[in-house]
Amino acid sequence: MSRAPAPVVGGRPVAPFDPHRVRAEFPILSRRVRRGRPLVYLDNAATTQKPLAVIEALDRHWRTSNANVHRGVHLLSQESTTAMEAARGHVARFLGAADPREVVFVRGTTEAVNLVAHAWGRANLRPGDEILLTTMEHHSNIVPWQLVAAQTGAVVRAAPILDDGSLDREGFRRLLSPRTRLVGVAHVSNALGTVNPVRELAQEAHAVGALVLVDGAQAVSHLRVDVRALGVDFYAFSGHKVFGPTGIGALWGRKALLDAMPPWQGGGDMIRTVSFSGSTWADVPARFEAGTPAIAEAIGLGAAVEWLGGLPADAVAAHEADLLEHGTRLLEGVPGLRLVGTAPGKVSVLSFVLEGVHPHDVGTLLDLEGVAVRTGHHCAQPVMDRFGLPATARASLALYNVREDLDALVAALHKVRETFPL
Ligand code: PMP
Repeated sequence: MSRAPAPVVGGRPVAPFDPHRVRAEFPILSRRVRRGRPLVYLDNAATTQKPLAVIEALDRHWRTSNANVHRGVHLLSQESTTAMEAARGHVARFLGAADPREVVFVRGTTEAVNLVAHAWGRANLRPGDEILLTTMEHHSNIVPWQLVAAQTGAVVRAAPILDDGSLDREGFRRLLSPRTRLVGVAHVSNALGTVNPVRELAQEAHAVGALVLVDGAQAVSHLRVDVRALGVDFYAFSGHKVFGPTGIGALWGRKALLDAMPPWQGGGDMIRTVSFSGSTWADVPARFEAGTPAIAEAIGLGAAVEWLGGLPADAVAAHEADLLEHGTRLLEGVPGLRLVGTAPGKVSVLSFVLEGVHPHDVGTLLDLEGVAVRTGHHCAQPVMDRFGLPATARASLALYNVREDLDALVAALHKVRETFPL
């Protein structure tokens, strides 16, 4: 079996990372699918698989400590609370946050953006204020702003993107003005793999007095994130895209901003006092965590980021860069295949169209060979419109992928080409 070359970063060899060893920690990756074929899982931008560290953390919690959190005096409730709050600390460290109280547990990126749009947006946006997004945003960083804009009279704008899928920096600057109250930007585009220059965008946004929300859904499993170094105001991500459970994610926000925001959902756990003459709110993060949280999932997320944090980040990044380069080279050899999204420095995502074959047919034929990719608009219809496409096929990588996965993808694509000759 061929191995990726030893990783070298900045001219220096880095701590070894063996993706074949890591694969053994993911039981699902040894599954056989379609007529006994080995699973080739290349749909990581949709969701990632789970390592034993996460599966066992969930199992352990349910077997030994399951109870509701925060209000109980009994042992199991105390254990559950301690484990969930420890997970909050793990997430804070994972993001480089100054204080675990800046981490709000939410269902995922979608809920995090809705939280900011409704809690911050409804309290702060006035008619004529502008929300500046980019054309490459996922629908979850577009639609919540449209809903709040309709309620407040604010206006949603979208910065253009260039032909290679990178952000049009000039276009962004042209749209930025003192009317801009918030800039919402994907750290990494799920449809194109583009990495946006978040730190620079945040500086430009702050210069006009706007806040910055980053959708980190596609970034956290590929880039080292440090919210303070990035200089942003809010950072959102989903647990299931970073080897953790579904139904859990986090919103990080600057403490002073979160402190000043009213709640957006009411219920148990988010109050200080309740009476029929009026209620008062708990401090953050509880203020934004109404109701029983996803306790086991939060603990699983903590386990996921701890597991990821234990891997040699530079070597993992070098491995992923090698995969992307290998995959790009092979895909370019498939007759009639066009890559969509070729921005310099992109990560993880290989979106493409195959001339003469609808992307859904490509996906179905690949599945027959055991190769799992996603086809469609990837919840990024403005990106599809920008490139004049109804859909693309998308292979997306994770650290447990190996060159052989890309070899299998491309072999299957050559078969599709034989079925549908040009
Ligand atoms: N933003 C991006 C860039 C994404 O890729 C996704 C998921 N495809 C989301 C937001 C939404 O994440 P979730 O469905 O987990 O809330």
